[in-house]
Amino acid sequence: MAGIPNTDKINDFYFCKKCLAECNGNSPVSYQRLSAGRTKIGLQIWCERHNCNVIHLSFNGEELAFNNTQVMESGGKEKKVVINNVTV
Ligand SMILES: [Zn+2]
Repeated sequence: MAGIPNTDKINDFYFCKKCLAECNGNSPVSYQRLSAGRTKIGLQIWCERHNCNVIHLSFNGEELAFNNTQVMESGGKEKKVVINNVTV
């Protein structure tokens, strides 16, 4: 996980186009209801509000490095996260 920060480093957000059209000046980040998860080929971001694809990324068969630790709000200690019975 070295070199992969677990703090917010988002430069550009992905948006559901339908949510963008409907948010009426409100923050589209708050309006849309996205879920993200692994797929057979990579990672997909899905709009739960509109039940539609936002983006589906292919890893082209590569195993990518990742950091899924979370910084605890008090004290800044890292908390291990368990996904699919694997502690990372
Ligand atoms: Zn949407």
